[in-house]
Amino acid sequence: MKEHIQTLGALRRERGSRPARSVKQEIRDNLILKLQSGDTLFPGIIGYDDTVIPKLVNAVLSCHNFILLGLRGQAKSRILRGLVDLLDPYLPVVPGCEIHDDPLAPICGACRARVAAEADRLPVAWLPRSARYVEKLATPDVTIADMVGDIDPIKAAHAGLNLADELTMHYGLVPRANRGIFAINELPDLAGKVQVGLFNVLQEGDVQIKGYPIRLNLDVLLVFTANPEDYTARGKIITPLKDRIGSEIRTHYPATRHDAIAITRQEAWTDRPGEPTIEIPGYIREVVEEIAFQARADRKIDRRSGVSQRLPITALELVVSNAERRALVSGEPIVVPRVTDVYAALPSITGKFELEYEGELRGAEQVARDLIRSAVGSVFSGMFDGADTRTVVEWFDMGGSLLFGDSTSADEVITQTSGVQGLRSLADRVGLAPGATAPSVASAIDFVLEGLYAQKKIGRSDERGYIAGVEAAPRHQPRREEPARDEEIRLPGGGKKKYYN
Ligand SMILES: [Zn+2]
Repeated sequence: MKEHIQTLGALRRERGSRPARSVKQEIRDNLILKLQSGDTLFPGIIGYDDTVIPKLVNAVLSCHNFILLGLRGQAKSRILRGLVDLLDPYLPVVPGCEIHDDPLAPICGACRARVAAEADRLPVAWLPRSARYVEKLATPDVTIADMVGDIDPIKAAHAGLNLADELTMHYGLVPRANRGIFAINELPDLAGKVQVGLFNVLQEGDVQIKGYPIRLNLDVLLVFTANPEDYTARGKIITPLKDRIGSEIRTHYPATRHDAIAITRQEAWTDRPGEPTIEIPGYIREVVEEIAFQARADRKIDRRSGVSQRLPITALELVVSNAERRALVSGEPIVVPRVTDVYAALPSITGKFELEYEGELRGAEQVARDLIRSAVGSVFSGMFDGADTRTVVEWFDMGGSLLFGDSTSADEVITQTSGVQGLRSLADRVGLAPGATAPSVASAIDFVLEGLYAQKKIGRSDERGYIAGVEAAPRHQPRREEPARDEEIRLPGGGKKKYYN
């Protein structure tokens, strides 16, 4: 940090004969320092260590402009914003210059005039790195004036200037990002004419505005994002601009549920202040992630637009809120989400994917419900592989039913289910600690019931709650005529049980 340097003279003495660095060199130099010291390169970016980050590092070392190609919710914007950390903390600039001119080598006429007039007495200002990152979401209505700039005829007339003089220019976003990073999201949405303007600034250092050529020798690192299909579609990006993009880097969704959980843990707002405290069971985190994995593989969902990681992030927030609501109403000291709460997260799920025709026929809500059910089934199968669920299933097959919902208190769930032989010991398999609180036990019980429902071993209806499965019921129908056995099975905590098969 060089904040003691306040004038051009002091800056000149400090810089000595060292040549000025371009922004790409500056970022490269700082990246090299980080690599040598073993610093974390992109803090908060999870699951990209062996895939995206090495390519990103190579692009920066090569001083390339680059593009991140990926579907929505793959942390593309976050990576680009992370580049700011590779800039120097402060940059000396000519105070008041809209394009952050280097006091030692100004490119705009106004600054050159000031340097000539004030020489070493010219004050120097220090620009923090956060002010050197400009981001723009490309849309078809973005104009050359927005991106590059426009000529201001009134300014020209007042100053008696030629219209081709850059002093008559009203700067757009790219010149304002001079000596910094300019990020354009969804590049293919930018009109061809604007892409040409952008290319000219980069390649030729000039631009034509309303027929007047204006010189602009800008120093900018240009980075972009795009959906891969849009980017590769013919005619979406003008060839010379594509040619100027040194690296194309593909992003991806988390490869494992483990990575996905880590991302959601970091991003979701679940550490909430105040009472009651929140405890999220591991299986809830897994189910919420699995919804996104299932959605990404579902043929009813449009794969080209993808399923953002924001789905599990916002879903988990709603799951926690639903559990929080229940705990507050029933006066429970601790919030433990249940699988049933995941269904209350539908509002965060239905808007996060686009449906194919088949999905539209089914409707977004039903597609989302199907996804939750199969996510629960997948997580449950993994955790309860080899577990004996027969006594519980048979209890329902014998005509047992349990009616409770997401607002039923933990104590009520435990009381209602206490007569179901084997249910509590199955629930213990999720890893309940000895002396687990009622909300934790109720959540584990709910998971087992929802798991069996997802596996279609038992049924569930709005009116009757958990009931016998549709397939199981007729098969076991004759057994209902054996009252002795029926009683025997239902007996809570009864002695030795007799099972078929
Ligand atoms: Zn200037």
